[in-house]
Amino acid sequence: MRLESMHSLYVERLRDMRDAENQILKALPKMIERVHHAELRVALEHHLEETRQQVSRLDLIFDELDESPRGTKCKGMAGVLEEADELANENGDPSVLDAAIIDAAQHVEHYEIAGYGAVKTFAGLLGYDKHETLLETSLNEEKKADETLTDLAERSINLDALQGAEREVRRAAQLADRPRTESDRPPERRPFFGDEDRRY
Ligand code: FE
Ligand code: ZN
Ligand code: FE
Repeated sequence: MRLESMHSLYVERLRDMRDAENQILKALPKMIERVHHAELRVALEHHLEETRQQVSRLDLIFDELDESPRGTKCKGMAGVLEEADELANENGDPSVLDAAIIDAAQHVEHYEIAGYGAVKTFAGLLGYDKHETLLETSLNEEKKADETLTDLAERSINLDALQGAEREVRRAAQLADRPRTESDRPPERRPFFGDEDRRY
């Protein structure tokens, strides 16, 4: 690929966005399956639908440019999604896992915001007013999705996750305070030599 003009850069970065969106279309449903919080699930499902429309907008632009949308792999989005996949497949407290999914999804949105910001600017520069409007619509959807995720994290999910962790600490503290009985024996504790006389 030769970047001889702003026009060729514009087409190249549109292809990159198109591939990034395609990757998201495949990854997001798997992420949604792992969500526990109902509002987070609804928000991500809503954004999945928006993502389909974003792909349509890009295809409209490719049609108008009479260019193929294929030929570029977005390596950045592949990396972001690989990390997201690792986080979403961890085991643990449901609220903490939801917080991890929000963290991962916000990385995706910020990457897209950077991408749409750039191609929208290129479209304006090259005089593609209609493209600029289409790309701005997608850019605003990404920004809104990011804000919704921030709101959910700050208002509810991060707090739930923190409370879940605090519950664990309190439970451990209560166990430590009570007169000990045989049933309080911590499961992870294994007897060792010289420990035979110890009473729990
Ligand atoms: Fe998108
Ligand atoms: Zn990319
Ligand atoms: Fe998005």
